[in-house]
Amino acid sequence: MPKPVILALDDDPSVLNSVERDLRARYGQEYRILAIDEGKAALEYLKKLEQRNETVALFLIDQRMPGMSGTEFLKEALHSYPQAKRALLTAYADSQAAIDSINEVGLDYYLMKPWHPPEERLYPVLDELLDDWKIHVRLPYEGIRVAGTLWSLACHQVKDFLTRHQIPYQWLDIEKDSSARNLVERVSADSKLPVIFFPDGSVLVAPELTTLADKVGLQTRAALPFYDIIIIGSGPAGLAAAVYAGSEGYRCLVIEKAAPGGQAGSSPKIENYLGFPSGISGDDLTRRAVSQAKRFGVEILSAQEAGTVEARDAYRIVKLNDGTEISCHALLMATGASFHTLTMPGADVLTGAGIYYGAAYTEAMNFKDQSVFVVGGANSAAQGALYLSRFASRVSVLIRGHQPTASKYLIDALNENEKIELLPDTDLLEVKGTNSLEQIVIKNTRNGDVQTCDAAAMFVFIGVRPQSQLVAGLVKCSDRGYIYTGPDVMVDKNPPPGWTLERDPFLLETSIPGIFAAGDVRYGTSHRVASAVGEGAIAYALMKEYLKTL
Ligand SMILES: Cc1cc2nc3c(=O)[nH]c(=O)nc-3n(C[C@H](O)[C@H](O)[C@H](O)COP(=O)(O)OP(=O)(O)OC[C@H]3O[C@@H](n4cnc5c(N)ncnc54)[C@H](O)[C@@H]3O)c2cc1C
Repeated sequence: MPKPVILALDDDPSVLNSVERDLRARYGQEYRILAIDEGKAALEYLKKLEQRNETVALFLIDQRMPGMSGTEFLKEALHSYPQAKRALLTAYADSQAAIDSINEVGLDYYLMKPWHPPEERLYPVLDELLDDWKIHVRLPYEGIRVAGTLWSLACHQVKDFLTRHQIPYQWLDIEKDSSARNLVERVSADSKLPVIFFPDGSVLVAPELTTLADKVGLQTRAALPFYDIIIIGSGPAGLAAAVYAGSEGYRCLVIEKAAPGGQAGSSPKIENYLGFPSGISGDDLTRRAVSQAKRFGVEILSAQEAGTVEARDAYRIVKLNDGTEISCHALLMATGASFHTLTMPGADVLTGAGIYYGAAYTEAMNFKDQSVFVVGGANSAAQGALYLSRFASRVSVLIRGHQPTASKYLIDALNENEKIELLPDTDLLEVKGTNSLEQIVIKNTRNGDVQTCDAAAMFVFIGVRPQSQLVAGLVKCSDRGYIYTGPDVMVDKNPPPGWTLERDPFLLETSIPGIFAAGDVRYGTSHRVASAVGEGAIAYALMKEYLKTL
């Protein structure tokens, strides 16, 4: 934590030197003493301090300065540091100005020059002011601060990215906090949001996630041009394969477009994963898996999307969306699945502004004591509703079918929760809102009743679709885009057309030798954390077999 600042301002160099010397002698251990000889320069410096979230304890300001009087300076400075104590240094002739400024700027004290000996005429006054400041001050947050509005998709994505990477930050809502708004206006001339302030004083305005990832020290570039194994996707399937590949000494790279953990990483509590009788949060499971993989030397790239995959001779080549090409011998598609998005008019504009897909737990506490909706009746929706009920006053769950399809333990928990209301046989017809979601229109499909409801937020968990687009033209997939592997790629008991090897495809191998698939993206999987982990482990064992044959 940087020391709080005592700022001395005087245009007379000899006075400034002597104030600085006296302040340093008494307060230098506990405070940073800044001595500046011009009002404008001091105001500029304050902006920098504010950007770094440093705090000012005391202003000791000369009243009579050319260009800007001490009172004028304090008026400006107090916008940034309203809690700082303020004292004017005045000559006898300025005492009326000092008295006036008691009202104008809430002056705490005025000291007549000369103040010597300081032990008698300066320190007792300042000691008292600083003691009082210490009792009442709220010290600023030391870490990353993200400033923006609740109703911005870009702000939501940044918060979600930091949360999913378990990087702490403070959220500053510029609609509620005027000092945050002033801070943002100074650095984001074209009002782009979010603005991210770092403890070293640097600022990023509406950055790409890769830029943010670089800034917070995540790996975004591969160290090598070639790996034995590349895994696309760092959900449970990808991480399981990575841990085994790393532990057996293979050069292994994991490419992740968002944050490690995949869908499982967004689960507030996984209760059916073997070995965790009281459940484990997706965060916790991810943190453990990531450290395990890294301990075995696996590289994990964050915020890097794999755009295409190519097979050239014995090489499998991945092209990232930033243009980088990385190659390997064995490739694992562990890209999982993502939620369907709403297609009704207006839903896209309100995404991130009241409509959220998946868990979006970063936003849950913003809807404290408000009414929110969950769309969907499966496990993820049930978990979402239970989590949101910790904050919201009411959680209404819109279910298309007659009843939720979630596991029994989750349905029991939904029924026992007084804040949760289940609305079966309900279709979502319309979403309404200008800058943010305001209302939704729903229809009861049993009796045809249509109802408009006020909605602060809606969390959508409807059906998942496989994220297989990047290999869609390369490997065989089902109509719905799930990647076929092993027996499913066989045609009349023969390997698929174009298959170049003597043997049949391995159990989790796709229609292209050396490209494997595991987890939610694979045809026939069971959409469970344990299945994804198991498939990841098996896929690794088969990739190892494949590598032996090269
Ligand atoms: C909210 C929620 C709660 C759940 N709770 C449970 C539960 O309690 N128990 C249970 O067993 N299951 C649960 N599930 C299901 C479980 O999480 C999934 O079955 C599991 O995560 C699938 O793992 P995966 O590794 O196959 O894919 P995913 O977890 O989907 O991970 C795939 C990863 O690949 C990345 N990716 C995709 N495309 C690219 C690309 N082109 N480039 C780079 N990266 C890419 C994605 O960003 C993602 O991180 C839950 C799911 C959700 C959403």
